[in-house]
Amino acid sequence: APTLVWLRRDLRLHDHAALELACRDGAPVLLAFVFDTDILDALPRQDRRVELILEALLDLEAQLRERHPGLGLIVRSGRAREQIPELLQRCGAQRLVFAHDDDPFALARDQAVRAALPATVRVDSVRDVTVFERRELLTGQGRPYTVFTPYKKAWLRTVDAARVSERRPQLEHLAPSALAQGLPSLSELGFEATDLHPRFRGGATQAQALWAEFREQRLAAYADTRDFPARKGPSYLSPALRFGLVSVRELAREALGRPADEGAATWLSELIWRDFYHQVLHHHPGVVNGPLKPEYAAIAWEEGAEADTWFEAWCAGQTGFPLVDAAMRQLAQTGYMHNRLRMVTASFLCKTLGIDWRRGEAWFAQKLLDFELASNSGGWQWAASCGCDAQPWFRIFNPVTQSEKFDPKGLFIRRYVPELAPLSDAALHAPWEAAPLELGGVVLGRDYPAPLILHAEGRARTLARYGAVRGLS
Ligand code: FAD
Repeated sequence: APTLVWLRRDLRLHDHAALELACRDGAPVLLAFVFDTDILDALPRQDRRVELILEALLDLEAQLRERHPGLGLIVRSGRAREQIPELLQRCGAQRLVFAHDDDPFALARDQAVRAALPATVRVDSVRDVTVFERRELLTGQGRPYTVFTPYKKAWLRTVDAARVSERRPQLEHLAPSALAQGLPSLSELGFEATDLHPRFRGGATQAQALWAEFREQRLAAYADTRDFPARKGPSYLSPALRFGLVSVRELAREALGRPADEGAATWLSELIWRDFYHQVLHHHPGVVNGPLKPEYAAIAWEEGAEADTWFEAWCAGQTGFPLVDAAMRQLAQTGYMHNRLRMVTASFLCKTLGIDWRRGEAWFAQKLLDFELASNSGGWQWAASCGCDAQPWFRIFNPVTQSEKFDPKGLFIRRYVPELAPLSDAALHAPWEAAPLELGGVVLGRDYPAPLILHAEGRARTLARYGAVRGLS
């Protein structure tokens, strides 16, 4: 009887834990993907991620057909919890294999699928999304780590060649199936085309090209370039990691193999942050709804009509703070935002404007191509000082200083806020403070917003707001 591999966030054929496991015993292997309407129904009809997934599946289908014209993906649209049991039955499979996904929604879905299967079907699931997962790295006392640095040390001490070795599937066991009848189009799925950036199109094949370019040309310089949004510093691999177009093992293998390379070591740290936040979510699934540190649940955020207007201005990139606005427009226009700017915009929302970070988290979740519950929740709770190893509550990013430091010539700002292009470099970071001559004819309040609030005022309110709940735990 065949084995069914259920692809979810591992949309590639190489270095693939579930596929490797399925192919090991020599049974014929079929590949299935479900466009899960439990997820899709809630999305707007234009969603870049749906297009990204479809392109990744098209790429897989092409790779399969190249191996053998009879091969193909079995693609369904519907509720995964119904589709997967039905598919197993229709193809007579006696074994289901998939990779772990520890997002609480996915865990519940997988549980429902397992419960719907007859006892005769064997289900195997494997680690694939992270290098370490769940309870694999614990402190000497058997507790989960809550601080990053000791976690990272344990990660580096424990990782070995086997853990990051390639899971190379024996693809000759892939078998044709009458159920593999080609892919639906975007419109058949009920979605419309988007402006998804070419960098994120083309599935695993393109992701390999992006990874090769980063690895060969930019990784070594990462430590120096990563903080400057106008520079091509980071890898842009986060959407590929989100949907498994690359394997985290291949990335970690490369970085671990370059111990003398400062760029590779710094970048590896970021991959370890990713593992760290996944294990935080595993141990504290409550972070989905609220702060990890309970005392911060009592913070009195700004609410009401003014806060709503400010929130909308933040979403739209119309706060009057050029770096914040450029970043928010980058997110809206591309679905990606540079890491430094995620920190700046998150801090600006909750610590300058005093708006509940959960509203920002939800906005990022809608817009980010790489949206990942673990990292998004971790990043927001870091900025709002209420998560694991978060920044101290009294540390408040100054958006103007950040702008001067990380976009000194305003190259990034001018790219996304073109109406400010005529300003001098010096005036660009805080136009409201500039002498009229430096504004190059731009009128604040007409051509570009005046600041919603002065940072010093927001900062003072935040110190009071946080001060009021400190020490309650
Ligand atoms: P690179 O700098 O090339 O890093 C390589 C990879 O390491 C990334 O692709 C990512 O998988 C991982 N990584 C890097 N930084 C972090 C980090 N701080 N935490 C966890 N993993 C990291 N990342 C997401 O993947 N999804 C999210 O939803 C997400 N939301 C965030 C929200 C906030 C408020 C903040 C501050 C950060 C968030 N991050 C998120 C982390 C980080 O900003 C992105 O992973 C990174 O910007 C992706 O770009 P890149 O692939 O070019 O990164």
